[in-house]
Amino acid sequence: MENKNFKTWLDNMQLNHPLVIAGPCSAESEKQVLEVAHELKNTDATVFRAGVWKPRTRPGTFEGNGVKALPWLQKVKEETGMLTAVEIANAQHAKLALEFDIDILWIGARTTVNPFAVQEIADAIQGTDKIVLVKNPINPDLALWIGAIERFYKMGVTNLGAIHRGFSSFRKSKYRNIPSWQIPIDLKAKFPTLPIINDPSHICGNREGIFDVSQTALDLKFEGLMIETHCNPDEAWSDAAQQIKPSRLIEIMEELKVRKPRFEKEESLSKLDALRKEINEKDEQLLETLAERMQIIEAIGKAKKESNVAVLQNTRWQEILKNMIEKGKEQGLSQIFIEKMFKAIHQESITHQEKIING
Ligand code: PEP
Ligand code: MN
Repeated sequence: MENKNFKTWLDNMQLNHPLVIAGPCSAESEKQVLEVAHELKNTDATVFRAGVWKPRTRPGTFEGNGVKALPWLQKVKEETGMLTAVEIANAQHAKLALEFDIDILWIGARTTVNPFAVQEIADAIQGTDKIVLVKNPINPDLALWIGAIERFYKMGVTNLGAIHRGFSSFRKSKYRNIPSWQIPIDLKAKFPTLPIINDPSHICGNREGIFDVSQTALDLKFEGLMIETHCNPDEAWSDAAQQIKPSRLIEIMEELKVRKPRFEKEESLSKLDALRKEINEKDEQLLETLAERMQIIEAIGKAKKESNVAVLQNTRWQEILKNMIEKGKEQGLSQIFIEKMFKAIHQESITHQEKIING
């Protein structure tokens, strides 16, 4: 997929910082929309966002003002010169957004999960030169995210970007949606010219975490940030806990550090080179150790086969895991990491022993 348009558009903007999309979760009234927009005028925010159709988890909560709010966004553009962005979730929304000349259309996480809905929207906006940003699906499924992006591309929508808003998880965490940074990194590896915007508001679900998540996004070279902004966040009709005031957004923008894409000085380059060589050596040692461990595992497998003993020895496995978590902690390695790593090792060991016992 050659997706150079949105990237070129971004480059042509010549911003000395990543793209900032800001504005309320929902367009509540004309007054509220214009108030936020005027406070965002002359800040780093180039694009004004506001939800017009709101995908709510439960019925009976505020579901957006619908088409009535689209002229308010046109007013934002006239009065502030900012570009405008709304979420579209079906063909009807898509047509209306185009009719009211909204500049950027985004596909919400609840829509990206559904290929039928995505295709319906892609058909409705076929060939548009509007910018379309595809949020990641609610579940951590990279292929589903890629699929949605491809559906637009196939319909001649080439001004494409992605929004990383985190993933729903049953695990308790400090995030509303866990970031799982490796997923947008994998998306970037697949489509290097596809700009990715980070949405710290929906990742955090609170105001406090927004700065740190934004800084991580910049450290990982995301091309932009989408941050929910409201003049009176506590009174917001949706996502009240995570919206910040325009004044706070300005502070955050001042404090965020934009990193250079690469080392420039010769001296730092050779230092980096030496460190990378060390890493390569360590990685090779790791592989050798793992392979040696696997040989022992296979010897145990043979013994189990001879005595017809079950592959899974749960008490022993729990003991290893507990022990490694403790030792890992002493070495400054997180429990989550140790668990993931040893579960993967254990799974591979089971596969090897299964082959021996049954093979
Ligand atoms: C939003 O941007 O307000 C929104 C509903 O986001 P998401 O689709 O990421 O939940
Ligand atoms: Mn929201």
